[in-house]
Amino acid sequence: MTTHFGNLTEDRPTFVSHLECSATGERYQADRVHGLSDAGKPLLVRYDLAALADNVDQETLAARPPDLWRYREFLPVRNTTSIVSLGESMTPLVPLHQIEAETGSAQVLVKDEGRLPTGSFKARGLAMAVTMAKELGLTRLAMPTNGNAGAALAAYGSRAGIETFVFCPDDTPEVNVREIALQGARVWRVNGLINDCGGIVAAGQDPMGWFDFSTLKEPYRIEGKKTMGLELAEQLGWTTPKAIFYPTGGGTGLIGMWKAFRELVEIGWLNEPLPRMVAVQSTGCAPIVRAFDEGADHAEYWEDAHTIAAGIRVPAAIGDFLILEALRESGGFAIAVTDEEIAGAQERIPRSEGLLLSPEGAATYAAYRRSLREGRIDRDDRVMLFNCGNGLKYAMPPADQALNRHQPIDWAEMRSVG
Ligand SMILES: *Cc1c(COP(=O)(O)O)cnc(C)c1O
Repeated sequence: MTTHFGNLTEDRPTFVSHLECSATGERYQADRVHGLSDAGKPLLVRYDLAALADNVDQETLAARPPDLWRYREFLPVRNTTSIVSLGESMTPLVPLHQIEAETGSAQVLVKDEGRLPTGSFKARGLAMAVTMAKELGLTRLAMPTNGNAGAALAAYGSRAGIETFVFCPDDTPEVNVREIALQGARVWRVNGLINDCGGIVAAGQDPMGWFDFSTLKEPYRIEGKKTMGLELAEQLGWTTPKAIFYPTGGGTGLIGMWKAFRELVEIGWLNEPLPRMVAVQSTGCAPIVRAFDEGADHAEYWEDAHTIAAGIRVPAAIGDFLILEALRESGGFAIAVTDEEIAGAQERIPRSEGLLLSPEGAATYAAYRRSLREGRIDRDDRVMLFNCGNGLKYAMPPADQALNRHQPIDWAEMRSVG
C-alpha cells in the first residue's frame, strides 16, 4: 500500500549495528529495551554505514514520498508494521526576503517545523520513539514536558494503542495541556519546573510500571530529530548552510542534526566544512551559553529559570556535554537573547514576512540579529533558523478594533492607520 506517508508495507532492512554509550563508548545490543547507559548517559544508535551506503543512493531517495520515512535506511525501525505515523511531511525552507534586504544578508532561511503533526518538531522525535516502543513491546510511557513533547507523545501513543502519562509545569501554555488531554494522555500540572516533573516520572517507574520517556533517556528520539539534518541537506542539494541557529532546551535536535551530518560525511554525501551549530537560549535560562563561554564540558543547573519561550526553559540537560561537543566541533557558539528581543521578533517577522513564529523560533531570529551586530556571523553567510513550533499554539498580542455597522464609518481615520 503506497500512502502519502510512504510505502508502508515494503520490507525495510535496518542497518543498525548496535547502541553505544555517548560518554564511554560501551556497546549495547540493538533490538532490546534500553534507557540510559550503565554510566547514566544517553545511548546513541550506531549503523553499519558502509552497508547503508551500498543500499541506497540519492536518486532512489529523491523518488520517495516527501516525509521522514523516506530516510528509512538511516533509521532504526526493523518492521514496517511498527511504524506509527500521522503524516510527517518534509517542512519548507522559507526565505526571509525583507530581512535579507534590510541586513544585506546573503540568505536567511527559516525551516518551518510548525507544519508537522501536533504543530511542532517534537513529532519527528516522538514518531520515531513511539514506533520503537511499539516494536519493542512497551505498553505504558511517561514523560515530563514543557508542552510540545507531551502533545506529540499523547498523539503518537494513542495512535499506537500505548498508554501515556504526562507531567508539565503548572504554567505550561494552556493549549498544550488541553491538546495533551484531548489526544488521549493522562496529564497533570505540577507546581515546579520540568526537572521536578522528571523527578515524578523517575519516582513512578516502580509503582506505575511505566517506561521513562524523558528527553534522551531513551535512544530513539534523537534518530527522529536526526531527520531534520538529513532533510535540510537534501533540500539544499546535499549541501549545508554556513550556520544553523537552533533554539536549545534539551538539545535533542541539535545533537540529532549533528549526528546526521557526521553520518552523511562518513558515507560521502556531504563535504566538510559542516555548518556552525549555534545554540540559542534565553537570558532567563542559559545554562549551555554559560558553560560554553566558560569552556566547560558540562553545564551547571540554572537557578530560577524563566522565559516566555517555554520550549527552551530547561535548567539542566542530560545531553549537555553532547550539545557543547557539537558546538565546539562545528566551530559554532551559544548565545542568549532577552525575552524583549524574543517578543520583538515575534511581532516583527509575521508583520513583514507573513510567517508566524513560535517564541522559540523568534529567539533564533533575535539571536541571528545579535550575532550579526556582535560580528560573530558574517552577512555573506547563508544561515538557517529553526522555527520549531507553530505560532498559532502561543499567545498573541490582542487585536480588538471593532466597527459599528450602524454608525457612519470614518474612512479618513481608517486610511491613516497601519
Ligand atoms: C522542545 C522545543 C524546543 C527545544 O528543543 P530541544 O531539541 O529539546 O532542545 C524548541 N522549540 C520548541 C517549540 C520546542 O517545542
